Amino acid sequence: MGLLDKHLGYRAPLEGIRAAGADPSNVRFDAVLSPTEGVLAGQPVILLGTNNYLGLTFDPACIEASAEAVREWGTGTTGSRFANGTFAGHTALEQALAGFYGRKHAMVFTTGYQANLGTISGLVGRGDHLILDADSHASIYDAAKLSGAEVIRFRHNDPDDLHKRLRRLGDAPGGRLIVVEGIYSMIGDVAPLKEFVDVKREMGGHLLVDEAHSMGVLGEKGRGLAEAAGVEDGVDFIVGTFSKSLGSVGGFLVSDEENFDLLRIVSRPYMFTASLPPAVIASTLTALKRLEDEPGLRARLSANADRLYEGLRDMGYAVGPHASPITAVEMPDQATAVGMWNALLQNGVYLNLAIPPATPENKSLLRSSVSAAHTTEQIDTVLGVFEQLGQEFGLLAGRRRAATA
Ligand code: PMP
Repeated sequence: MGLLDKHLGYRAPLEGIRAAGADPSNVRFDAVLSPTEGVLAGQPVILLGTNNYLGLTFDPACIEASAEAVREWGTGTTGSRFANGTFAGHTALEQALAGFYGRKHAMVFTTGYQANLGTISGLVGRGDHLILDADSHASIYDAAKLSGAEVIRFRHNDPDDLHKRLRRLGDAPGGRLIVVEGIYSMIGDVAPLKEFVDVKREMGGHLLVDEAHSMGVLGEKGRGLAEAAGVEDGVDFIVGTFSKSLGSVGGFLVSDEENFDLLRIVSRPYMFTASLPPAVIASTLTALKRLEDEPGLRARLSANADRLYEGLRDMGYAVGPHASPITAVEMPDQATAVGMWNALLQNGVYLNLAIPPATPENKSLLRSSVSAAHTTEQIDTVLGVFEQLGQEFGLLAGRRRAATA
């Protein structure tokens, strides 16, 4: 018996998806030409599923900073900061992030996934309670396992349910950490953060917000949902990633928490892995400056998000509750989702196929994320393809919404 036999339940569904065309879990780009254009199996495609919200992956200043750093500092750090030392760039990036968020402390991790793992498992452990939105990202659930804390889940985006669960906890001993996300990655819906902060203030505990998809997207300065909702002082920990708006890889935590420095010696996903390479640090620092200096990027992102969302909604597609850089189109079933995903690809549109168990309420979704770098023409091309395929798949019959004023 092979060790992987226990996963054989996935074999038939995977083969079924592969038989329908390309394998969505194994898409290979021949080339990436810009933040919004790639080449797949020799065919040009519009990239509509990249999380490249500000379109900075080909930013000349970021590329230049990265190239300079690699020449000056080499290709990698070859070890963890705990054991092998910190490079000047790590500290500069942490200072820049602390300054951007107006917090005393910042810490960078090698991925956003590890930022959640390292932060949450450092903050809570056995004897503590971790109170999670039910739709939390896998990195938050994995952090919960690593932490050993008791996990309590509350209904997605439901402050009343959070209140109820905290009330039930009564005066149980130990620390309490509530974790929510700014924008949720599958549907693009936003947390009711002000209400969550009110509940936390009333019932006690600490609040962590993962701004992975909202940094650079929401808030006048682009700091994310806590800024946009005007509740930064009610949020104790902000976690984020460099792999979306900042166009590189890595993650971070900012906070005013006392004894913050102790996290660096108790957080295993920080201590026992190699630190970010110099080229990544340099492009991330430059991207953060671009984010701060160019609010126009956010305005373009928002205009593109509205155009795609409204276009799909008005055609009659089932989309999320409000416009957001993430627009998820709900398909009636998985087979249609797989068929549409392949047809979109054949028509030059690449986006994300999201199917159970990775989706809320086991929905089958075509998930797109727009970028500030998309042109209006690209968005309109995508809408045209959706319109044509929607007719072919019988998804739109009689569903067109009356034009909004
Ligand atoms: N948090 C959330 C909410 C995410 O969606 C993701 C990635 N999709 C992460 C954390 C992990 O970030 P990274 O991919 O940069 O490791």
